[in-house]
Amino acid sequence: MKVMILTDLEGPSGVNGRSDGIGNTIVNCPAAEAALVQEVNACCEGLVAAGADEIVVLDGHGGSNNIDIFQLHPAASLMQLGGQQPVCWIDSSYDAFVMIGAHCMHSTLGHMSHSYNSHGTARLTLNGREIGEIGLGARIGAYFGVPLILVSGDQAACREAEQEIGPEVVTVQVKEAWSRYTAINYSPEKVHRLLRDGAEAALKKLPEIPCLPMEKHYGMTKHFMCPNQAFPLEMTGGKRLDECTVQFESDDLIDLVAQSYGWAAGVHNRKYGISPEWVFRG
Ligand SMILES: [Zn+2]
Repeated sequence: MKVMILTDLEGPSGVNGRSDGIGNTIVNCPAAEAALVQEVNACCEGLVAAGADEIVVLDGHGGSNNIDIFQLHPAASLMQLGGQQPVCWIDSSYDAFVMIGAHCMHSTLGHMSHSYNSHGTARLTLNGREIGEIGLGARIGAYFGVPLILVSGDQAACREAEQEIGPEVVTVQVKEAWSRYTAINYSPEKVHRLLRDGAEAALKKLPEIPCLPMEKHYGMTKHFMCPNQAFPLEMTGGKRLDECTVQFESDDLIDLVAQSYGWAAGVHNRKYGISPEWVFRG
């Protein structure tokens, strides 16, 4: 079985953050990066025990420069993003995917909450409902038939995963957020055991975990913090709803996501031949 682990750096136990006035800043980067790779490795152990024979770890935070490949579990390969083209980071060759180090959406009270850009995006909606990185990530996987089976992070991230996917998704709480920048971090030893066991259990019950259904049509609104941030996406075809809000529409989820990155409608999927059966071929 082929499994992707999508990582973020806000969610592991022991990551210390502050506000820099607008968005999030991690103030203990070396320790945060060590915490992340150890959590990823514990997850790899569980996945291998459940039958995974190919694991790709996607370094999904910031400049994709947070995981030292020399520290990574030997069963895993490392995907590093640089100028993300195409915008989808997964394809239909995977059987399952996992989110390690996840965080809740911007408006929820959770540790270092944000939606993609803590300095830019105040609110993201999909078909009228607010959505964060967990919900949109689950749908990007689902487009290619790949279910999200395990999410780890604080209690708010775990709750968000359960609300999006249902009680079947396995969640591993690694810390308790008291506010956006205050958290009680659980001991690494305990967290690693929970992640190892959770990953094994999640992959073993893969057939029971639902892949979210696609909808016939998608509308997305991106509400920026400042009017100037909305302007570039208006220039590339987004509909400006007000000073800070841009709207995109598509019948295809990946085309919609591409539009939110600045692609004109239809161009991204045509260029890369994207369909639910798509497999990357270099
Ligand atoms: Zn991040």
